[in-house]
Amino acid sequence: MIPVVALVGRPNVGKSTLFNRLTKTRDALVADFPGLTRDRKYGRAEIEGNEFIIVDTGGIDGTEDGVETRMAGQSLLAIEEADIVLFMVDARAGVMPADQGIAQHLRSREKATFLVANKTDGMDPDSATGDFYSLGLGEVYAIAASHGRGVTQLIEHVLIPFVGEKPQEVELSEEEANAAYWEAQLGENDDEIPADVEDDFDPTGLPIKLAIVGRPNVGKSTLTNRILGEERVVVYDMPGTTRDSIYIPMVRDEREYVLIDTAGVRKRGKVTETVEKFSVIKTLQAIEDANVVLLVIDAREGISDQDLSLLGFILNSGRSLVIAVNKWDGLSQENRDQIKDTLDLRLGFIDFARIHFISALHGSGVGNLFESVNEAYTCATKRVSTSLLTRIMQMAADDHQPPLVNGRRVKLKYAHAGGYNPPIVVIHGNQVKDLADSYKRYLMNYFRRSLEIMGTPIRIQFKEGE
Ligand code: GDP
Ligand code: GDP
Repeated sequence: MIPVVALVGRPNVGKSTLFNRLTKTRDALVADFPGLTRDRKYGRAEIEGNEFIIVDTGGIDGTEDGVETRMAGQSLLAIEEADIVLFMVDARAGVMPADQGIAQHLRSREKATFLVANKTDGMDPDSATGDFYSLGLGEVYAIAASHGRGVTQLIEHVLIPFVGEKPQEVELSEEEANAAYWEAQLGENDDEIPADVEDDFDPTGLPIKLAIVGRPNVGKSTLTNRILGEERVVVYDMPGTTRDSIYIPMVRDEREYVLIDTAGVRKRGKVTETVEKFSVIKTLQAIEDANVVLLVIDAREGISDQDLSLLGFILNSGRSLVIAVNKWDGLSQENRDQIKDTLDLRLGFIDFARIHFISALHGSGVGNLFESVNEAYTCATKRVSTSLLTRIMQMAADDHQPPLVNGRRVKLKYAHAGGYNPPIVVIHGNQVKDLADSYKRYLMNYFRRSLEIMGTPIRIQFKEGE
């Protein structure tokens, strides 16, 4: 499960600066859902290949009337939901009364907590951190969020229990990369790796992990029940913390799936009940853990900013995507045309996801969703040989020459697969890192069309030289 890191601390210690640095701001998801506090920000971050969810809790201002009361609410919740808490203090300001209040609360929790002294730029390391040992939280980590100093080391350190010690950097050859992929897929040794994986790969052998996500009230539970009600399913009544999604194995048309249910549908005997409320963390973790994400949108509400935030998060995660526009029943033709126009306008930038119009309540269109889910999964895990990828790359370059950079033509040499779900195409060549974004997009679209890939994003990586 992708770890969740929460940033807590007084206002102005540098929490948003660190948050922005880690998420590169693009994908901040502001939790502005009905019934939830507004000032938590969620983002997806990646340091040295390690992914995590980061939550900025906003300021805890506890100077006058008791930190505990002020902390009650969103910061407390964020701490409870997090795996790791980064408690930030301002190295320039020294220990403040509010810091002591927060420290007291954190000492009483059994949470992995790290005390981070920010703004240590231009300061002597020892004098910057010395004061803060009095907070009784052990080691003090010195960083400068606005300059980036110490940030990577800090994050690598706090993530160790989740990802293990960092292995030595190794460059994999194509064969080795393929072997590693198969090892991961099969959990077996090299002998199991088919000689010609292109033809032998059978993605139907593994269950598809399908996460059903969306804002509150869009119809996730109704849809989950509809899907489960129509099929022979084994439903586990799994006790979990409120943060966890429920994993429900099911079979449909002889294909195995695991539904990742974020809405909290549970069956007890014949009774199905919704037991849990919407949680952003739960939703984000479900996305990370899925092969395919089914994003449910409410036709009657249109596309909200929250839908777009979730969508942004899904796109960044690289997961396959199918969109279900729910509550399509009982709408006039005029209404439907209007909704479709709006969708075109706001979702036009996603060219790979299939959109279905369904009624979870009446069941119409629900069965067809699975065709797109299967297609997305098949495309996301498709095996493509180096020779075919290289051929497509050459055709793309023939149709539309790579531009000159510094007076020299960019040279594309060969392409091979670098990963699956999402598919990654690695292109080797000269000056490829300098290619304009427009040309990179052109290549991506060319690969998408040539390989007939739907339902999943494609990523292209460039490598200089051989
Ligand atoms: P938040 O309220 O905790 O989210 O704090 P902000 O991220 O908004 O930062 C508060 C102020 O501290 C801003 O003016 C930042 O530019 C500044 N700041 C943040 N990190 C650093 C740092 O590493 N060094 C210095 N010198 N200033 C910083
Ligand atoms: P969740 O919070 O996303 O799990 O949403 P629910 O499944 O609890 O649905 C919220 C409300 O929308 C309930 O009153 C449902 O009966 C209603 N609803 C769900 N799907 C449909 C649908 O396809 N059509 C209509 N008209 N109402 C629906």
